[in-house]
Amino acid sequence: MTTTTAQHPCFDESAKHTHARVHLPVAPQCNIQCNYCNRKFDCVNESRPGVTSSVLAPFQAVAYLKALDERIENLSVIGIAGPGDPFANPKETIETMRLVKAEFPDKIFCLSTNGLNLEPYIDEIAALGVTHVTITINAIDPEITAKVYRWVRFEKKVYRGVEGARLLLERQLACIPKLKAHGITVKINSIIMPGINEDHIVEVAKHCASLGADVINCIPIIPTAETEFQDMPKPDSKMVFKTRLQAGEYLKPMNHCARCRADAAGLLGQDLSDTHVLLKEYASR
Ligand code: SF4
Ligand code: SF4
Repeated sequence: MTTTTAQHPCFDESAKHTHARVHLPVAPQCNIQCNYCNRKFDCVNESRPGVTSSVLAPFQAVAYLKALDERIENLSVIGIAGPGDPFANPKETIETMRLVKAEFPDKIFCLSTNGLNLEPYIDEIAALGVTHVTITINAIDPEITAKVYRWVRFEKKVYRGVEGARLLLERQLACIPKLKAHGITVKINSIIMPGINEDHIVEVAKHCASLGADVINCIPIIPTAETEFQDMPKPDSKMVFKTRLQAGEYLKPMNHCARCRADAAGLLGQDLSDTHVLLKEYASR
């Protein structure tokens, strides 16, 4: 583990009580539709990925970050995790990172993506100092992947079923060795979906490990209203434990993910409760 990783609360559990992170919600669009995702709701009481109170333009995000940095002790990680996908909004993502880098050169930069459109930007994000990237890979068998996504949009064309799944997978997996060639720490997020991939995540871990990935985060699905998977049962603790144990044979497990909102700010599990007020203020500037 590098020194930076030791200061990243998501990659090193011992840092979660001492080092804070912020997600800058600058990426509203998405280029795929996961069957478990609904970004329509904006509720300050709802804590799950894809949810934010406001979307910020890059210049607003930097001003907001300056305000947060004064309020949050030891804010060490700046991440972009939506509320859509950072690379479905590459202009906003790169511009935000450029501005943030100029103001906060010593912070850790972190991105979380579905990986579909990451590859063309790897050299650029590495040059901007990104040290940690998370890619959500739910399966490495296209037949299984196809059950998880409604569509995949790439270069203005929409793909569905196994064809879309193959494309997504190919592009996700191609990113791992390229990120590693830049010395970037790679975390794989896999959503545990009972009846779909609970016995397959071990294969995801095995394959991604062979490509050089570092960490795996097996996250139980949050069945969300108005999604294909709204009635899916939540994985029980036995299933979660088993999946993590199996995957952990191949990749370092991260088991303390707090499933944060796209506008989370603070220590993991102890987010500031009024960021929505601050966000709205900076979104209107
Ligand atoms: Fe939602 Fe993220 Fe999936 Fe896009 S990639 S549909 S934002 S969960
Ligand atoms: Fe870290 Fe998980 Fe929160 Fe992302 S969602 S910031 S990985 S704890």
